[in-house]
Amino acid sequence: MSNDYDVVILGAGAAGLSAGLYSTRAMLSTLMIESIGPGGQLLITDDIENYPGFREGVKGQTLADEMYNQAERFGAKMEYAEIEGVENLYDDRKLVRTSEGDFTARALIIATGGSHNKLGVPGEDEFGGRGVSYCAVCDGNFFRGQDVVVVGGGDSAMDESFYLTGICNSVTIIHRRDDLRATKVLQDRAFSNPKYKWLWSHVVEEFVGNDVLEAARVKNVKTDEVYDYPTAAAFVYVGFHPNTEAFQEKLEMDELGHIHGDLHMRTNIPKVYVCGDARAESTRQLGAAVGDGITAALAAFHDLSA
Ligand SMILES: Cc1cc2nc3c(=O)[nH]c(=O)nc-3n(C[C@H](O)[C@H](O)[C@H](O)COP(=O)(O)OP(=O)(O)OC[C@H]3O[C@@H](n4cnc5c(N)ncnc54)[C@H](O)[C@@H]3O)c2cc1C
Repeated sequence: MSNDYDVVILGAGAAGLSAGLYSTRAMLSTLMIESIGPGGQLLITDDIENYPGFREGVKGQTLADEMYNQAERFGAKMEYAEIEGVENLYDDRKLVRTSEGDFTARALIIATGGSHNKLGVPGEDEFGGRGVSYCAVCDGNFFRGQDVVVVGGGDSAMDESFYLTGICNSVTIIHRRDDLRATKVLQDRAFSNPKYKWLWSHVVEEFVGNDVLEAARVKNVKTDEVYDYPTAAAFVYVGFHPNTEAFQEKLEMDELGHIHGDLHMRTNIPKVYVCGDARAESTRQLGAAVGDGITAALAAFHDLSA
């Protein structure tokens, strides 16, 4: 496989795969570099109900497969590697360092998306894979018929907890406030489902157990009461951070590490673009990531043809 391309796309989630489709259809030689597998967050999403074109919704894995096959059909290449850094960004040939070697390109499209935050409490790492999880779709089945908790009150927490209500005996939402941040339609769906239980104004202080997780040690922030809430599993959805460590000090970013891009997804460096959840001001929605990826690829085509 060649190591030099017109366009290298960093990350193959929805944004990267969309960029790959448009870039190859514009006859630009295109490599996508991805560490886990094509689809990114789609791989940890069960049902997607708000992506246009699917009246009954679509499974994340199904959409990821279709997007990848479509990009590949037009000639996009895939390298499975961990992106370690970028260099020579102002040169004609920009360099990407990866665990599988170096790649060069005339244009780079950064589509590395983001990942869920950890709570940062004792026991979280210790019980990772033994009860503490960040992906209901991946791990929920291990706790079929059991009582589990979900930590968080946003869209991801509500989406994923709803998935868990289909397989678990009960799902307790542990939320530090006394109302949800999630979209109204998701709230309504949760409040009308008898499988939910609610621990309002509670935070998790620790995960406890022996070989496996046995309880979340919670604190009522209104009364300061601390007690162990028994659970077979804890699914954590408490925010999100962009995967942009490899570009620190290289590109202009906001205070959380999202890379600034203009309306055409151009960053502060010519022929370096950003799209999807890694971009500052992103709405962090699938349709938006797809649109960003398309826009970035079209801008790259325009700039490389000038
Ligand atoms: C549980 C959940 C449910 C969701 N539900 C919905 C929904 O119903 N509707 C909706 O519109 N949106 C939903 N979203 C959000 C939507 O999935 C995202 O906005 C969208 O997928 C972001 O795409 P992306 O390509 O920007 O990033 P990502 O999907 O995060 O893809 C980035 C890719 O880059 C790769 N990568 C990152 N760093 C490196 C590195 N250093 N080296 C190599 N590869 C790297 C990652 O492995 C990943 O594959 C949901 C998200 C989650 C987590």
